[in-house]
Amino acid sequence: INDGAMVCALVGQGISRSLTPPMHEREAAMAGLDHTYLVLDVPASESATTDLGRLLDRAQQVGLRGLNVTHPFKQRVLAHLDALSPGAERLGAVNTVVFDDGRRIGHNTDWSGFARNFDLGFGDDSETPVPRSTVVQFGAGGAGAAVAYAMLTRSVRRFHLVDADPQRARSLAASLQPLFPATELTSGGTDNAEIWIAAADGLVHATPIGMADHPGTAVPACLLRRDLWVAEVVYRPVVTELIANARAAGARTLTGDGMAVHQAVDALRLFTGLEPDAGRMTRHIGDL
Ligand code: NAD
Repeated sequence: INDGAMVCALVGQGISRSLTPPMHEREAAMAGLDHTYLVLDVPASESATTDLGRLLDRAQQVGLRGLNVTHPFKQRVLAHLDALSPGAERLGAVNTVVFDDGRRIGHNTDWSGFARNFDLGFGDDSETPVPRSTVVQFGAGGAGAAVAYAMLTRSVRRFHLVDADPQRARSLAASLQPLFPATELTSGGTDNAEIWIAAADGLVHATPIGMADHPGTAVPACLLRRDLWVAEVVYRPVVTELIANARAAGARTLTGDGMAVHQAVDALRLFTGLEPDAGRMTRHIGDL
């Protein structure tokens, strides 16, 4: 690491192959910045006892510009921060910490990254915005909370949240409903999916099913149809079984790599103050 270089790091569990570090480093280099992005991969056996306060102290002492924080620390890190962006505060989850004049400011670029990707592909910045009066989402975990929040900021009228663990869906719906009183939120287990999807404009998928190490699809192919758009959160592989099934049904699709790029775009902007080139970062993730 050169003197004067900007140093950031990703902290989480099972992140040794994350695409975020090369995306940040290459885009910063293209903007003429000397930037080193480290990976602090905490072993699963130690994540429950990791002293996040001490980790943040050390990161600040050695002069890091900031951190990206991922599973399983996105909620736990809140106790060690001085201030939160409005989105991070409402979600109760942080994935980006910026060290600013000795203060630690928490942000959540998962939701803003999904929202930006949605706007560009399906929303008001796309050539043909999709209808989004009724949306069904699978998955009410960490990513699910961020993308549900993003969808609800995009004027959805009815939002149905499905999770294999119905209690998780209920508790996320209960925490989001007061923030979006104009939206009718319902939640339940996967047995509700068929009836909700039949009346929906679109489907958001935010479970791990479809990842290389969780193959398959959470959404039966027979429920997909031409006039049901599908937005995916899983991005390794980019074309998941769900995306392939939706395309085969003739539906419009949004793949998960766009969210991965835009959460990195938003984090890099927070770290550097510069406007990253989202198109260049999209091409870059395709090469990785
Ligand atoms: P998580 O473990 O916190 O939550 C997953 C949820 O899915 C759980 O509530 C679980 O009960 C539910 N679930 C599992 N199988 C299901 C099924 N068959 N039907 C319905 N619900 C089911 O996981 P997470 O952190 O939310 O991550 C989910 C996925 O999102 C991962 O694949 C991750 O890689 C991806 N992700 C992508 C991005 C991106 O930038 N594109 C960002 C964050 C996470």
